[in-house]
Amino acid sequence: MANGMTFDEAKHRVDELVTLLDKYSHQYYVLDQPTIPDEDYDRLYRELVNLEELYPTLIQNNSPTQRVGGTLLEGFEKVQHDSPMLSLDNAFSKEELESFDRRMNQLIDEPFTYHCELKIDGLAVSLKYEDGKLVQAVTRGDGTVGENVTANVRTIKAIPLSLKEPLTLEARGEIYMPKSSFLALNQQREEQGEAVFANPRNAAAGTLRNLDPKVTASRNLSIFLYSLPQLSNRDVHSQNDALNLLDSLGIKTNPERQVLSSIDEVWSFVKEYQEKRNSLPYEIDGIVIKVNELEQQEKAGYTVKAPRWAIAYKFPAEEAKTIIRDIEWTVGRTGVVTPTAIMDPVRLAGTTVQRASLHNVDLMKEKDIRLFDTAIVRKAGDIIPEVVRIDKELRNKDSEPYSYPTHCPACDSELMHLDDEVALRCMNPRCSAQAKEKLTHFVSRNAMNIDGVGVSVVTQLYEKELVKDPVDLYFLTKEQFLTLDKVGDKSADNMLKAIKESKTNSLERLLFGLGIRHVGSKAARLLAEEFLTLEGVSTASLEAIQSIEGIGEKIAESIHAFFELEEVKVLISKLEEAEINLSYTGIRKEEVEQVDSFFTDKTVVITGKLEQFKRNDLKERLEILGAKVTGSVSKNTDYLIAGEEAGSKLTKAQELEIPILSEADVLKELNER
Ligand code: NAD
Repeated sequence: MANGMTFDEAKHRVDELVTLLDKYSHQYYVLDQPTIPDEDYDRLYRELVNLEELYPTLIQNNSPTQRVGGTLLEGFEKVQHDSPMLSLDNAFSKEELESFDRRMNQLIDEPFTYHCELKIDGLAVSLKYEDGKLVQAVTRGDGTVGENVTANVRTIKAIPLSLKEPLTLEARGEIYMPKSSFLALNQQREEQGEAVFANPRNAAAGTLRNLDPKVTASRNLSIFLYSLPQLSNRDVHSQNDALNLLDSLGIKTNPERQVLSSIDEVWSFVKEYQEKRNSLPYEIDGIVIKVNELEQQEKAGYTVKAPRWAIAYKFPAEEAKTIIRDIEWTVGRTGVVTPTAIMDPVRLAGTTVQRASLHNVDLMKEKDIRLFDTAIVRKAGDIIPEVVRIDKELRNKDSEPYSYPTHCPACDSELMHLDDEVALRCMNPRCSAQAKEKLTHFVSRNAMNIDGVGVSVVTQLYEKELVKDPVDLYFLTKEQFLTLDKVGDKSADNMLKAIKESKTNSLERLLFGLGIRHVGSKAARLLAEEFLTLEGVSTASLEAIQSIEGIGEKIAESIHAFFELEEVKVLISKLEEAEINLSYTGIRKEEVEQVDSFFTDKTVVITGKLEQFKRNDLKERLEILGAKVTGSVSKNTDYLIAGEEAGSKLTKAQELEIPILSEADVLKELNER
């Protein structure tokens, strides 16, 4: 008897763990909807590893310790990898890293260095290039066989379709969803009553393994490549050489990497990025430490599941405990009613947290969340606070299941739980909360961008019955503005001016502002570019809408149905009466293709206060010219556009000797087009 268990007890527990881990892996890898936090999965996995070490005869063929990843999805062609795509062993403490270091020293028995990289939280893919052209992209799958996702991968802009040299090679890396896209996607899904993704990793996996490439195209995935498994005729002797070669071929690698010669230096690297992880624009869940030299990697060798020469240090999850005092229900512009937990303030990953979205009723029921429960909270994707679980041991004996609202908190009409949705929904088209949210959306920055008309003004205008639908804004008088609370002469003038100015906005802003279900700002732009006028969009056939690259079936159906509505026809005639521009005024598609400007194919970062441009407008203009505008400076950045009071990005660009452009430089280049 070891570990305080008899052999039979151990056998029973091993069976139990294999079944449990199998269930969680299926939810995680196949459905992209995990039901427990990774740390809990890792804890159970460790327990299994320990038991298998004590009782090797209990190791089952189908044990998760003996295989990589999960089962494959139906619907994709299956492709065998040339060499297995393995997982990584994990370390959770400094001691475990030191023991990895001792193992390496024994196995290699000569001096070597470590290559430290960020562990990007996405999903692994293999890309194949033949004569410099991308020919195949396959997921890791079960490590031996993966899913052919070439059509989807071709829509990811960060992946070059051709290399800078006509080489034949396989490169492997991690596809991920930037934090900002993850936030926007979940917000949109919540508004539409759809299930939210638990984290950017699951969102990326669900997006890449979607059978419709248009869905992938619409969701802004990106990639970092980190391995070049089969090399020939090249002067590549180390992981560092391999990544530099990938860089020189135009393949995106992560710039935050370093060659280090001792495990103490490795530990400093780990600590440094544990601090920095919240400020990175993508999610990382640890650091991958690899033996740098290829020859010495071979000396260390492989297990069935992972290379022996590498280890993933997993960051501890930052969690905190607090009490749920109240649950607030808010109605969104599409009628979805969303619960938010109001909690005792608690410090978490650098900020004080007091509110956390509980997303929807189904999730609340699954976690059995009740008032006055002790909640374990953390930040999903490092950013949004979420309730991970309830500490049921601390629950009051007299606690009662939460009673869910049956009527809309705003208009009191009965709430529905539609069959295919996870949310409660207010179906009343005249619900006041929905109307206010629609107005707030219409004036918002990415929609009509009406400065100074914020939530408080919109609420008052609606409550005083001065505005019922967004177009009413264009018929308001100064006297009417002056009847509002805290609105003086000057701000009334400013608001009227902003409203007037918005009349000339290009069509895509209006299309987005109308709040058509499933139509985000990107889809709105695609529609405007394609059909050029509101009339063009409203009379387009379903097929014509669907044939636009980046517009999926669901979006197309929603647009088509929207313009069939009688009330929308009335709205359009009101828009005409208000003399609002109903045409696309941006650069036309046929022009974009001909453009070859200073910014074409350049990666640009914008920082500091801008005087001449609105930041979003500048971003849009640069993108139209074929530039990629990113959020952080790295050695892949071509230009930094720096306004007043630029801070750390400017310093970093100076360190990396990246050319810095002033607003005047940018204007000059734009005018020279
Ligand atoms: P892993 O994510 O722990 O590590 C291996 C993977 O890391 C590689 O396959 C690669 O995709 C990725 N990676 C990212 N950056 C890398 C880099 N720079 N170099 C090399 N690889 C890099 O292993 P896994 O097998 O993909 O997943 C296991 C983990 O998944 C578990 O530890 C657990 O946290 C999580 N999981 C969770 C659940 C759940 O229910 N919550 C279920 C199953 C698995």
